[in-house]
Amino acid sequence: MIQVQDVPSLRKMTLGWRRAGESIGFVPTMGALHDGHMSLIAAAQKDCDRVIVSIFVNPMQFNNPEDLAKYPRTEGRDSDLLRLAGVDLLFLPAPAIVYPQGFSSVVSVTALSAELEGAHRPGHFDGMATVVAKLFLMTGADRAYFGEKDWQQLQIVRHMVTDLNMPLDIIGCPTFRESDGLAMSSRNLRLSPDDRQRAPVLHRAMAQAAAAIVGGASVHQVLDDAQAEVLAGGFDSIDYIALHGAEDLRAMSTLDRPARLLAAAWIGGIRLIDNIPVDPA
Ligand code: AMP
Repeated sequence: MIQVQDVPSLRKMTLGWRRAGESIGFVPTMGALHDGHMSLIAAAQKDCDRVIVSIFVNPMQFNNPEDLAKYPRTEGRDSDLLRLAGVDLLFLPAPAIVYPQGFSSVVSVTALSAELEGAHRPGHFDGMATVVAKLFLMTGADRAYFGEKDWQQLQIVRHMVTDLNMPLDIIGCPTFRESDGLAMSSRNLRLSPDDRQRAPVLHRAMAQAAAAIVGGASVHQVLDDAQAEVLAGGFDSIDYIALHGAEDLRAMSTLDRPARLLAAAWIGGIRLIDNIPVDPA
């Protein structure tokens, strides 16, 4: 595995691959890698001749300085995992490489960024879309792989690629879960043992709520019940548990098209997110 930290070295490698007619898959991450990340890498390796993984904890997408400071960093272990997995290139840029002095451009996908995560994390999606656009241009990838775990992010990236005629395909990959249903996340590393035990109530309550909605129960009532269950199960507060159109991300009060049940909630000072499909029967 080649490890590079600057854009000219990255371009030199990708140019060689491209000249040899090889396709390039790209998996952007913030590190602290787990099996969810590795599943995106496996999908990329299946489709593409070469696979690039980036690790960049993007300061521009953190609205909360404490979350940025405490974001887990396990670069030595990550690099070993990627080498073992047969990744071709690890791109590890420093913040000053991505945001040099005087940087002042923003990519803002206004249609999908206002609600849900956007409402609770002001500026988050502008930071995400800006760095993802830059990484797409730096890598020149043919395909990029994103987890459904971050459903709103996936829809925003798809929208950006369409709006801006970016010449690559976006591939969404299913959410990887622990055996007790908790969605894998780098932030799970920060949960205390007790909170780790309690955290699966979020997915359990969501799965019950989704089944009740498909069964015809009142969406409003079901969402209220799910919130109560999550709080009773040990979460401290809930930013949202909501039903939105799967692609347009507009709030829904009846299940009249494919939907997504999305949630964000706090436990022991850690904010966890999850989402599951809710399709009309
Ligand atoms: P992150 O390092 O959290 O920025 O995530 C990098 C990529 O991995 C994003 O596309 C995420 O959606 C994806 N990802 C994170 N957790 C999971 C998971 N549990 N299952 C599948 N993909 C995931």
